[in-house]
Amino acid sequence: MDGVLVDFQSGIDKLSDEDKREYEGHYDDVPGIFGLMEPVPGAIEAVHKLKEHYDVYILSTAPWGNPTAWSDKLLWIKKYLGDVFEKRMVLTHCKHLLNCGNGEFLIDDNKKNGASEFGERHIHFGSERFPGWDSVVEFLIAEASMDQVLTGKLKHALITESMANKTIKALDAYMKVLNRKCDEDYTSELGEEVMEIASLTNRWLAATGERNRNKYYDI
Ligand SMILES: [Mg+2]
Repeated sequence: MDGVLVDFQSGIDKLSDEDKREYEGHYDDVPGIFGLMEPVPGAIEAVHKLKEHYDVYILSTAPWGNPTAWSDKLLWIKKYLGDVFEKRMVLTHCKHLLNCGNGEFLIDDNKKNGASEFGERHIHFGSERFPGWDSVVEFLIAEASMDQVLTGKLKHALITESMANKTIKALDAYMKVLNRKCDEDYTSELGEEVMEIASLTNRWLAATGERNRNKYYDI
């Protein structure tokens, strides 16, 4: 949250000289300081854009010695991002717990508190690659579209495979009927039909890429 959504310095700038002196080095302990902070440029628009493509949560480490900061952070989210996000706020020093292996990205301005455990999926806000929200949004929307294309391809592949499996099953059942007929009363026409169905089944099996299945006919 801090340094990504919230401009921490904008809160410090609004402190009295007395508070600046008293809390120097630990400004996050100033009561009410989070309420004074402005959003990072582009942050609010970016979150709204990203929520059209992603399930967005707001993670933040909280100064545990300054509990008013927790409610200040909540009020900040309510003020700038509306009611939806107040229910999507997670306060933790263990951000890696939210890395559930489902392709989660973390946008964070530092690598601490579990951020580095997101590996390639840690979007290092403020780095050369992601200096601000424009580059983050551009990257994440491109990733989301890529994901949609891949999901579409996967679905198509699954449908094709399921069709192939149904056809193979039907051909196999037909083969059993033919074999029974051959056992009862073999004719050369039946023999040819068996070869034809076996060849067709093999082509379907080959199309699914499973040449080593038990039912691959040796003809
Ligand atoms: Mg931060």
